[in-house]
Amino acid sequence: MHEVSIAMSIIDLAEQQIRASQPCTVQELELEIGKLAGIELQTLNFALTGAVKGTAFEEAKITQHIIEGKGRCSGCETEFVMDSLLTPCPKCGSYFIHILQGREMRLKSISIN
Ligand SMILES: [Zn+2]
Repeated sequence: MHEVSIAMSIIDLAEQQIRASQPCTVQELELEIGKLAGIELQTLNFALTGAVKGTAFEEAKITQHIIEGKGRCSGCETEFVMDSLLTPCPKCGSYFIHILQGREMRLKSISIN
């Protein structure tokens, strides 16, 4: 379950970001997760519930924005939507795909007051 370590590093990073604003109440934490990042969302949610315990994020709403996977074929330059890393080019069937987006996993914003 690498989602547990992902959740912990997200909360670690978020804590560093709000350190200068302490004490504060965190209202929302926004994450961007690419469909091709290899992250199981349900598992991540569960892991996050555990990771926020005892932190400033315990009561915060956690919003996850899903980033669609996109690739460009190295053979014919076709750009297309990818549901997994093993999606072949729809035009020529090639698996030599340059990933354009969808592998990201980042902290987008933190709302505090
Ligand atoms: Zn192609």
